[in-house]
Amino acid sequence: MKEFSYLTRTEDLNKASTSDFDALVIGGGIIGSGVANALSQSGISVILVDKGDYGSGTSSKSSKLIHGGLRYLAQGRIKLTRNLLKERNYLLEHSDVVRKERFDILVGKGQFRRFSIRGGLILYGLLGGGKPSRFIKNQGEYPGDVEGYFSYTDCVTDDAYLTVMNIVSAHENGAICLNYVSFQNMERLTGGVRAHLVDVITGAKLYVNAKVIINCAGAWIRGLLPGNAINPETTRLSKGIHLIYPRSAFPKGHSVAFRSPIDGRQMFVIPREKVTIVGTTDTFTNTPDDLDVSGEERSYVIRSCSFVSDSFDKVLPIAEYAGIRTLYGAGSSPGKLSRDFKVIADDISVTVVGGKVTDYRRVAFRVAKLVSSRIHVGRVSPEVPRLDYPGLPWHNDIESAINHECAITLNDILQRRLGTYYFDPERIEEVSNQIHEFLEEKNIKMENGFFIS
Ligand SMILES: Cc1cc2nc3c(=O)[nH]c(=O)nc-3n(C[C@H](O)[C@H](O)[C@H](O)COP(=O)(O)OP(=O)(O)OC[C@H]3O[C@@H](n4cnc5c(N)ncnc54)[C@H](O)[C@@H]3O)c2cc1C
Repeated sequence: MKEFSYLTRTEDLNKASTSDFDALVIGGGIIGSGVANALSQSGISVILVDKGDYGSGTSSKSSKLIHGGLRYLAQGRIKLTRNLLKERNYLLEHSDVVRKERFDILVGKGQFRRFSIRGGLILYGLLGGGKPSRFIKNQGEYPGDVEGYFSYTDCVTDDAYLTVMNIVSAHENGAICLNYVSFQNMERLTGGVRAHLVDVITGAKLYVNAKVIINCAGAWIRGLLPGNAINPETTRLSKGIHLIYPRSAFPKGHSVAFRSPIDGRQMFVIPREKVTIVGTTDTFTNTPDDLDVSGEERSYVIRSCSFVSDSFDKVLPIAEYAGIRTLYGAGSSPGKLSRDFKVIADDISVTVVGGKVTDYRRVAFRVAKLVSSRIHVGRVSPEVPRLDYPGLPWHNDIESAINHECAITLNDILQRRLGTYYFDPERIEEVSNQIHEFLEEKNIKMENGFFIS
């Protein structure tokens, strides 16, 4: 496999300003990385830039579920649920970074209703979700108000690493991918655009010519491309927070879906590797950088999850995170807006609004088809985007993170290559020391926090 590191990044910066591309992708979250991967596998020359690390936006801040969304089914969004389940099942089969997880969904006073959940789960199963359990009576494993529960299967992943796998796959297929390069502006040329970019590490400017520009900047899409008609009335931003507890706070071996006793919203408690992740909130915001967890948000999640186990009130969370998604459509609350994506195109640009982690392949395929018809290349295979990089599932390989997955800061490794921050935060210091030892051994230096030779 090709080297993909802080060293090749320097070479790629040179190539970027001396070549012309079919497509420039802004944003290396799951959507942009899937798009770049699909384009590179379709014979379309592509360059992708992200102002931070790959997956450092919302694509490392999700609930990390790969699912059809029982809640969407309850809203009557049958087609969306069917599509998501198809994607879930594809990813489960083709990626080691997606695995099955058992969920108990609680039934009783203030919770879900037994007969509607039973019906919903049967339909979910018919749409591709697998067979649910029969109704199981609460024998004391849940609070007194809970009559019982159904168990069903969905999937979990490491969202950030799935993003990195798509980036590496795109790189293997010839895409130029540059983390820490920010898109600033663009000018129109005959038959395309000239994008003005800045290398965030050195402050150097660079200019890239492309026939099509693809805006996959997630929560930052609004106002990015001049003249691009993203209507803030129909492109809303919604924020959600999660808290991370030690695994011992919830020693069950499976996840739980339940309603918050505060307002009836669906919540999840999800035991993962060495932790339990709980969440989430869902509130409109207007600023894509509103990424602090407020006291009010934290308290809402703690009070809601204490319904399932009072440990969440007694033990302190060891980490927390907030993410912001874009939602397309109008509605009085974020929960009512569809989680389906929307692709908006004009003569030189394509913008993606929304797009779940679960659904990234469908988005990428749709965009690749659109771009290939614009620039008259051949047919796009329904198989794209494939993962041509197998990744290292639940891995701990610092060398691969630096040499093959282009991690160029300590946090790139801890958060988005090894997943230590999310799945084993109590080992952050130990793993940081291991990284420092590796850097010393290989004579890799750091300047302003970035690796240099
Ligand atoms: C709380 C929450 C929970 C969720 N849970 C789930 C779940 O369990 N399962 C699921 O399938 N989906 C889930 N989602 C949805 C999913 O996480 C998002 O829809 C998805 O991650 C969006 O990916 P993206 O690539 O569009 O955005 P991002 O991951 O945010 O990527 C956009 C990228 O663009 C870059 N960028 C922005 N501006 C510029 C610029 N000027 N120049 C260069 N780069 C730029 C950013 O740095 C960023 O990396 C959840 C969302 C939220 C908010």
